[in-house]
Amino acid sequence: MRIILLGAPGAGKGTVAKLLTEYDGSIQISTGDILRSAVKEGTALGKEAKGYMDRGDLVPDELIMKLMEERLQQDDCGKGFILDGFPRTIPQAEALKQLLAKLKMNLDFVVNLEVPRDVILDRLTTRRTCSNPDCQEIYNIKSNPPTPDGKCKKCGSPVIQRDDETEEAILNRLETYQEKTAPLAGFYERDGILKNFESIESQETVKKIKAALG
Ligand code: ADP
Ligand code: ZN
Repeated sequence: MRIILLGAPGAGKGTVAKLLTEYDGSIQISTGDILRSAVKEGTALGKEAKGYMDRGDLVPDELIMKLMEERLQQDDCGKGFILDGFPRTIPQAEALKQLLAKLKMNLDFVVNLEVPRDVILDRLTTRRTCSNPDCQEIYNIKSNPPTPDGKCKKCGSPVIQRDDETEEAILNRLETYQEKTAPLAGFYERDGILKNFESIESQETVKKIKAALG
């Protein structure tokens, strides 16, 4: 499959993407994960991106497009991909459209995950992330806690609250989403490839997406 996952921070894009990779071997491409690894490794991209990310602002479109232009041409994309957290702005969506045309790739459709705002807020403030850049497993202190001493169940690394998960940064991310990313639903609706999914429980949502894929 080739799909884009749209949805607010905390809508469950990462979880849904991971479950979908198990369906047909398509890979998950998360710009957030790529950027966090770059920050951790201290690459030039990471150094440029860190300040924006910590404040909950978007990283500039040019940086993201450079990254994605390279990423989408790697061999593993031949298996199909699930774009998680990209595109995030209208200019990114327009650039992606041209890039996909150039690479002769069609999208199946764009999945818009619709989640009530109170659910989103609750999830974001209780979310914790594995600090190992190669793992980045997501936990929730209420519904899916790490080990009692705060370690990742998969890799044993400490599970942390991300710098962009302070209350101030969370509110900024939600505002940025409304302003910059929410308009993408209209963009893809006009292209006739948008599908809306009410999503509270990820497994259920994945079933519905699979059914839509046929
Ligand atoms: P969330 O969806 O929970 O906000 P992500 O892991 O997708 O988190 O992204 C974390 C941060 O990385 C964003 O707040 C932003 O700073 C940056 N980022 C990720 N993807 C993009 C993108 N496509 N364009 C611009 N910035 C991005
Ligand atoms: Zn881990």
